Amino acid sequence: MRIKRVIKNIIYFCLNYLLFLKPYSNKATILMYHSVGENNLFFNVESKEFIRQIEYLKRKKFNIISLSQLVEWIEKKQVIPKKTVVLTFDDGYQNNHSNVWPILKEYDFPVTIFLAVDLIDQKIGDSQKIVLDMLNWPQIQEMDQSGLIDFQPHTLTHSELSQINPMEAKREIEESKRIVQEKLNKKCNFFAYPRGNFNQEVVDILKESGFKAGLTIKSGLVSENVDLFKLPRQSINSKTNFEEFKTKFKFNLNI
Ligand SMILES: [Zn+2]
Repeated sequence: MRIKRVIKNIIYFCLNYLLFLKPYSNKATILMYHSVGENNLFFNVESKEFIRQIEYLKRKKFNIISLSQLVEWIEKKQVIPKKTVVLTFDDGYQNNHSNVWPILKEYDFPVTIFLAVDLIDQKIGDSQKIVLDMLNWPQIQEMDQSGLIDFQPHTLTHSELSQINPMEAKREIEESKRIVQEKLNKKCNFFAYPRGNFNQEVVDILKESGFKAGLTIKSGLVSENVDLFKLPRQSINSKTNFEEFKTKFKFNLNI
């Protein structure tokens, strides 16, 4: 595995070298994170790596904007400025409060966090027996009140929406929206599909429920003529090395 990591690093290093002169296009990058902390989960990014990534965005003068700003530009068919980046986190891990929020405050970067509402204040485990705490409502409210963190629904139970019946999917979508709106006294316009799983019926439910956009896990950059209910995101996880991270804003390649 170590050899594979080294090779991957070399490939991305060479790629960055070759891409050095390639200009940034008028496309946005939506980064997708989950957990930030010290554990071995695939979807985790270590704190020091996360700080390195955020520091890079600042140093290289990327435009970090909110998801609502990006969606507004796309709706108005405005040209997306070069080096535009949106930060998103899925599921609602408690380390978003302890490890992510202090950094974002320091850098003044807005973020959208998608909550699986039934998981709030729970613990979740995985096959490696690593247990992660999820955010609780006081933490969510505290972050929401800062104005920097925008919470949006990600179903109730983190169900894969095309795998359940449409009535159940509708309930997962509408109830999660209702609860987040009620708890935070705001309107929710954006939705992230758990595991990127959706079909046309799911998109229709989102539209009927008043959503403006749906975020997938399909990798890619966002152009101004994108389908707002199929927004691609560039995933950042434990396998993303720093050289790879730097390529995420110019093109899409998964090694
Ligand atoms: Zn999720």
